[in-house]
Amino acid sequence: MNKAKRAAVIAGNWKMNKTPSETAALIEEMKPLVADADCGVVLCVPFVDLPAALDAAKGSNIKIGAQNCHFKESGAYTGEISAAMLCELGVEYVIIGHSERRTYFGETDETVNLRTRAVLDAGLTAIVCVGESLTQREQGVTAELVALQTKIALRDVPAEQLSRVIIAYEPVWAIGTGKTATAAQANEVNAVIRATVASLYGDAAAEALTVQYGGSMNAGNAAELLDQPDVDGGLIGGASLKAADFATIVRAASR
Ligand code: PEP
Repeated sequence: MNKAKRAAVIAGNWKMNKTPSETAALIEEMKPLVADADCGVVLCVPFVDLPAALDAAKGSNIKIGAQNCHFKESGAYTGEISAAMLCELGVEYVIIGHSERRTYFGETDETVNLRTRAVLDAGLTAIVCVGESLTQREQGVTAELVALQTKIALRDVPAEQLSRVIIAYEPVWAIGTGKTATAAQANEVNAVIRATVASLYGDAAAEALTVQYGGSMNAGNAAELLDQPDVDGGLIGGASLKAADFATIVRAASR
């Protein structure tokens, strides 16, 4: 399978931005701008904004995602949200293992794996984030590290659930910094991720896998990044908060 046959997905990560009313307004603004998209369009919003986002996106091609969820089904986990709760709301995607969660909230490769499995078992799609720090890139361990993160994230994930996994390569040094990986760097690491998945699940499964790039992707650089053979979409932070910029990225991914 070549790139043209894989599902390209542009997912916005709004992080801790927008109130419910602001969420509704921004989605109303985006809807007509992305209506003709020839790729998946997902907006991952804060937990409290999910009902407003689902309501605003109803009847459109925009799917709604969360930015995290706990790996237990229920119990004494104050402040946490389960995959079943998200599922009942109508959420379809969940970002797992974003570098901000790894850095600020103690997320580890092991909890990324547990959360990924919880998301998949609930019938949702997991957008699993992997990526190296600047130090790790300078140490020359990017490929090994990203392969390791991918392998642990997918531990015990059955092959039949892989079609609901998206992997986002997000170099930590490129997130929110304005520094983007070059198109060649993004493609090279995305290919490592695909090869890792091929070693676990076989070539056909790896060829069908959507592997995104994320890290300061914007309206100006999206086309070159998305043109790479192993880049099947993007996870977009800052630029997903501006309707026109997000729509430009969606257009660049449409083919
Ligand atoms: C992100 O939050 O996943 C991200 C890629 O952010 P930004 O586009 O702002 O770098």
